[in-house]
Amino acid sequence: MIDLKKLQKDIMDNKRKKGFSNDISTDFCRAYEELSEAFSKYNKGQPGVAEEFADVIIFLLGMSDKLGYDLEKELVNKVEKNKRRKFIKEKTPEGKDIFIRIKTDEDP
Ligand SMILES: [Mg+2]
Repeated sequence: MIDLKKLQKDIMDNKRKKGFSNDISTDFCRAYEELSEAFSKYNKGQPGVAEEFADVIIFLLGMSDKLGYDLEKELVNKVEKNKRRKFIKEKTPEGKDIFIRIKTDEDP
């Protein structure tokens, strides 16, 4: 298993060494840009989609480090939360399936 906390530190060390921007707003925009690049490559059937995904994660890990978040812990917790979530399946007027989350006291 990857140690995401160590990866967060490695990413930030590399950014500092290279003198990259430390502006969090820019990082949000860059993460979005990388996801857009992934979709563009996917949509055109070009290679490199997974590398763009990696770029997105690099920005998320870097931002998590700057903001003091433990993304590994958040990721594990969120996956478990998603497993516990309950949904009902409905049909749209066009006949497509849609899933509606059932809100609970634990997961409002
Ligand atoms: Mg990229």
